[in-house]
Amino acid sequence: MVPEALDFCFELACAGTLVEGAALHTVPVPARARCASCAAEWAVGMPPDLGCRSCSGGGVELLSGRELQILDVEWAEHGRPDVPAEQKG
Ligand SMILES: [Zn+2]
Repeated sequence: MVPEALDFCFELACAGTLVEGAALHTVPVPARARCASCAAEWAVGMPPDLGCRSCSGGGVELLSGRELQILDVEWAEHGRPDVPAEQKG
């Protein structure tokens, strides 16, 4: 997951809805990989580096970096738009 891509999609998804302008705070988790052949571990980085530098062996396991969890949602009462109780077309 690329944080910038998530920010962009979040803004698009919120546009024109009740939560337009909502702020998204992300905590990036560095991607790490492990070689299945020699057990070397390294930071994958960006662009992703999935080749083992120790043995050039195949079979790379991604240890972290796929996490996507919603830890908290905060609602601010102030500034909340008035939603009509009844809408007639
Ligand atoms: Zn290796």
